[in-house]
Amino acid sequence: MSTNGSNGFTTDILHSDRRHGAEAGAVHKPLHPSAQYAFERVEDLVAVFQGKPGFSYARQGTPTTAALEAKITRMEGGIGTVTFATGMAALSAVFLTLLKKGDHLISSKYIFGNTNSLLGTLENLGVEITLVDATDLDQVKAARRPETRMVFVESLANPGTYICDLEGIGQWCATEKLLYVVDNTLSTPWLCTGKAVQAGLVVNSLSKHIGGHANALGGAVTDTGLFDWSNFPNINEVYRKGNSSNWGLTQIKKKGLRDMGATLSSDAAHRIAVGAETLALRMGKACDNALALSKALAQNPLVARVTYPGLPDHPQHERAKHLFGGRYGALMAVELDNSVDLFAFMNRLKVFVLATHLGDNRTLVLPVAHTIYYEMGPELRAQMGISDNQLRISVGTEDAEDLIADFEQALKG
Ligand SMILES: *Cc1c(COP(=O)(O)O)cnc(C)c1O
Repeated sequence: MSTNGSNGFTTDILHSDRRHGAEAGAVHKPLHPSAQYAFERVEDLVAVFQGKPGFSYARQGTPTTAALEAKITRMEGGIGTVTFATGMAALSAVFLTLLKKGDHLISSKYIFGNTNSLLGTLENLGVEITLVDATDLDQVKAARRPETRMVFVESLANPGTYICDLEGIGQWCATEKLLYVVDNTLSTPWLCTGKAVQAGLVVNSLSKHIGGHANALGGAVTDTGLFDWSNFPNINEVYRKGNSSNWGLTQIKKKGLRDMGATLSSDAAHRIAVGAETLALRMGKACDNALALSKALAQNPLVARVTYPGLPDHPQHERAKHLFGGRYGALMAVELDNSVDLFAFMNRLKVFVLATHLGDNRTLVLPVAHTIYYEMGPELRAQMGISDNQLRISVGTEDAEDLIADFEQALKG
């Protein structure tokens, strides 16, 4: 769980701003609201336009977003990061700037609903997409075509808590020289870095565990340094200059951030950076809570099924244990017994918050079929094994005994 820095995960985050030259002994980089950044000499202005690190117009970043990017790069053990206004903006930038008409994308079918919808848009633009059960490496391999340019998976997929064969796919992509993109939002770099499973790019929604306080939206794309961009045909001629390890992020930043414009504000970047200081503490507590809650619910006769990677009957329990270092994430799916009136049960909850969103300090609960899978209709839901009595729970950092007691009192009615 340590990064490539000289210190451990949390030490690196806590001392990052200070070590990168915050003024007057400040322990946080200041919050820069400036939209433009001015120069004394025109030569310096021109140099920034021609690729020298620096700031010009805030759509391409500010010193505040750069300070957050440095922290995320260290967390993921990567070589660079570009931040965006949301996680979806980060994913859009990756897909739209690196793929073009006629390319083929292999994606896990266990992905965030909005990402699934985004892939539909990509298909309309002429990118061919194959959705596979990426818990099984053979299915990923079987989807390979000569035009395959990218393989996309999530490290821990909601609401079913599927864990793809992250390492096996990474190894295969490395031999096939395919760009491997991992959305690491729900495991977070604290449980597993994208680099550890040989991803080329890692996407994180900063709105979830990394920010952690449900007070800011953000997204990030990190280059792990493992992918050889000189072999990637979709890099524009103008970005094929200098060290090829920078080509991918340069294109994502220019085409995806500058041109598409979904920029993270300095204000949100600052709040996310403060949240990130306690990622390891919060994530550790949330994982411990989730394990305790899942064990308690699994024994309750009014609960039909608990799907949580920390339980030995989870299909990817051993894989999760190996990949995530003995912790299992903060997400679970819970199916109540048919005798329980789901809505009446939910309305009796006092600690659990009835809300969408994931990775907050507060425990959130959502009826899956009626909300995130509503658009899909009953037939597709049945195919995907989503029953009307299924809940998604994103476990927070409250006291575990309060969570267990609240769930049990609401079940009793
Ligand atoms: C929430 C989420 C996103 C999108 O992030 P936003 O910041 O809400 O846009 C992407 N991927 C996963 C796995 C998510 O959970």
